[in-house]
Amino acid sequence: MSLRFCNSHSLYHLLLVLVIFCSISTIYAEANEDPTIRTMEAFSGYPIHESNSFVTNLASSLSVDTETLQKRIDELSTFSDTPAPSVTRVLYTENDVLARSYIKNLMGLSGLSVREDAVGNIFGRWIGNEAELAPVATGSHIDAIPYSGKYDGVVGVLGAIEAINVLKRSGFKPRRSLEVIMFTSEEPTRYGISCLGSRLLAGIESLAKDLTSTVDGQNISFLDAARSAGYAKEPNDLSSVFLKKGSYSAFVELHIEQGPILEEEGTSIGIVTAIAAPASIKVDFEGNGGHAGAVLMPNRNDAGLAAAELALAVEKHVLESGSIDTVGTVGILELHPGAINSIPSKSHLEIGYRQWA
Ligand SMILES: [Zn+2]
Repeated sequence: MSLRFCNSHSLYHLLLVLVIFCSISTIYAEANEDPTIRTMEAFSGYPIHESNSFVTNLASSLSVDTETLQKRIDELSTFSDTPAPSVTRVLYTENDVLARSYIKNLMGLSGLSVREDAVGNIFGRWIGNEAELAPVATGSHIDAIPYSGKYDGVVGVLGAIEAINVLKRSGFKPRRSLEVIMFTSEEPTRYGISCLGSRLLAGIESLAKDLTSTVDGQNISFLDAARSAGYAKEPNDLSSVFLKKGSYSAFVELHIEQGPILEEEGTSIGIVTAIAAPASIKVDFEGNGGHAGAVLMPNRNDAGLAAAELALAVEKHVLESGSIDTVGTVGILELHPGAINSIPSKSHLEIGYRQWA
């Protein structure tokens, strides 16, 4: 298959957007009409619909068990702190721990050898004929932000397990080991740190250090929460999560599209060619409060209007960037004291900004 694989250095926050999980044989059969195939060919630079090629022959014998896959996605969604159809699964909570067991159990059923590291990244390996070679890995996350859907991340983990099952059913024997990875805490919900597990895998020492003193909104430390979930048993073993360079030959992630673009275009698959560099900026303004009916306009120093002007400036800046993929959002805007008859004396806004290469 001509998906582009990313090297292990880009382990964190890979967003390979593959929207519809369809059987590879279907993709190949409809090569000429299917925009999926056109996308893949354009990306790889060579035709993937070649008769007599090994890949085509292999693909024609592959078939995804979509019914079981959907059933598992539905089952996993029941490990949630909020009622269906929403899913809320926050790092190291009871439902997160139960969902982890569910994943490990499925990995075991697929005959994978399962291991976990000190923060709960979970690895299920199908050992290849040349086990000494660096494996090819795929995976994603199963933590879910409050009131999210059941597919985010999950498709990349359960889909990966099904992909292994598909290959096993076809009689395929891998030369390199193949591995499914479930990354711990892709979402920043609990500790404000996104891609926590994969950043540690990438060997970010400053993060390992910071995590020894990080607490959540209830003042529960990261290490205590990790221990309660059965991880981080030794006091200083976060650095044991670090991977050596070259630990993987390649990594690919299947992920739902989180925006509407492919869906609107009716394109069933997209392949990421660049990864956004996200940044967030918190801004506080202090002005002068006063009675909204009494202080005349020329004499005001309105912190709310300053925030509003900055929000509009963000929009203008992004629109003028010349990059259709660069986005800026003021998702939080708070005014103090927050009364209709009071001039805001303080304002707070948070700007999320993602710039694409
Ligand atoms: Zn995700």
